[in-house]
Amino acid sequence: MSYKIAIDGPSSSGKSTLAKGLAREFGYVYIDTGAMYRAIGYYLIKNGIDFHDEKAVKDVLDKIDVSLDYDKDGALHVYLNGEDISRHIRTEKVGDAASVSSQFIDVRKKLVSLQRKLAEEKSCVMDGRDIASNVLPDANLKLYLVASDECRAKRRQIEEKAKGRDVSVEEVMKELKERDYRDSHREHNPLVKVPDAHVVDTTGMTPDELIDTVLDRFF
Ligand code: C5P
Repeated sequence: MSYKIAIDGPSSSGKSTLAKGLAREFGYVYIDTGAMYRAIGYYLIKNGIDFHDEKAVKDVLDKIDVSLDYDKDGALHVYLNGEDISRHIRTEKVGDAASVSSQFIDVRKKLVSLQRKLAEEKSCVMDGRDIASNVLPDANLKLYLVASDECRAKRRQIEEKAKGRDVSVEEVMKELKERDYRDSHREHNPLVKVPDAHVVDTTGMTPDELIDTVLDRFF
């Protein structure tokens, strides 16, 4: 029987670190749903489509094929129409396009059905915003990660710096708050904590501490 772990939470709360760690620990598949929304955001930017325009986005959805694959080390790669775009999707601009276009119902329907298909019959760890509430409501374990705004902004600032973008904590905090607001106030599948999700506060934890804390607490 397959085992499913759903991890939800706001940006930079530690979801992907934890999801990758648990997938590695148990040999499960890691499904990064944010990367799939980012692939659509990337397509829209690349093709000059106004990602705020629901009709324009809907009209090109049939031309977009998103898929995930794993290399021999287990690292996840994201493909857009057969091209590996993993290196291009972690920018603030692509995140913004993903966050805006993910509000549209047709974008969500397309990706949610793909996500459910990927999770069929396989034990997996899936992270995102609507995993426990919508994609995998029957997941065996549901985790909802939180961290203080200061901690999330600091983490994001360090990530941005590593990518060559020098940005202040204040600026990063502003971007995070805009993203959180949009993700938790949208009409379709907003970010919510479902009643049976366990809250894990990751404030101040290193990646290893986070993974060990969850392994100790739930396994
Ligand atoms: O997690 P990540 O920052 O990569 O996600 C990018 C954006 O994709 C989020 O800000 C959110 O708007 C959207 N998303 C979503 N539902 C998910 C995962 C991500 O709407 N399950």
